[in-house]
Amino acid sequence: MQKIGLFGGTFDPVHIGHLAVGRAALRQLGLDLLYFIPAALPPHKAGQLISPFARRVAMLRLAAVEEEPRFVVSEIEGLRPGPSYTVDTLSQFRQSLGPEAEFFFIIGLDAFAEITTWNRYAELLDNASFVVIDRPSHGRQSVAGVVGRCFPDYREETAGVWSGTGSHRIYSLAMEPVPVSSSLIRARLRQGESVEGLVPPKVAAYLRRNLMQEATGTRH
Ligand code: ATP
Repeated sequence: MQKIGLFGGTFDPVHIGHLAVGRAALRQLGLDLLYFIPAALPPHKAGQLISPFARRVAMLRLAAVEEEPRFVVSEIEGLRPGPSYTVDTLSQFRQSLGPEAEFFFIIGLDAFAEITTWNRYAELLDNASFVVIDRPSHGRQSVAGVVGRCFPDYREETAGVWSGTGSHRIYSLAMEPVPVSSSLIRARLRQGESVEGLVPPKVAAYLRRNLMQEATGTRH
């Protein structure tokens, strides 16, 4: 059975925190592959300015190539019209890879804490287990607190693993915190500050190139 990680986000831009999450998931869950799945139209960021999908994909590809052969970038959400609902993405993955694949949907605690606002959120666990990454810089919630509030039928079976009546579980994944966010990187770029060390070198070069093109009015 193939173990597949699915890591959704806006990735505007991808940064070393995302990559550290990816590496921790590969190692701790023994994944065969990890898909980074950028949202084309993130429902939670409606009304906010977001870089074009193609640019976010291009940076993810540069990061994946640089980092790890088991990292794959999926454009699945760019091929669907309308908001990018994770529940649809998970069932598409299930349909294309079949019942044999075991899916782990990776999510930061800040996003998991808002899970009840996601479209058809209870159905998410029909196709995948959840893997929640603690993000201490983002509030004081705990994984256990969110599970108790949002998935009251789930019980902690061993430390950091919750199960319910279905076959999928909720895992809490521990990793060294990496205090970086895409917002921080966008803020540094706006102020003309360097983002070296916060994103992989090829992504830093891509951001520099694109900022220069924008400054000189070049369209591509
Ligand atoms: P923004 O600052 O624009 O909100 P972000 O850095 O949170 O962006 P997203 O693309 O929105 O990045 O995040 C995708 C997923 O990665 C989310 O589940 C988020 O919680 C998680 N994540 C992002 N950065 C980190 C980090 N440094 N450590 C752990 N998880 C992270």
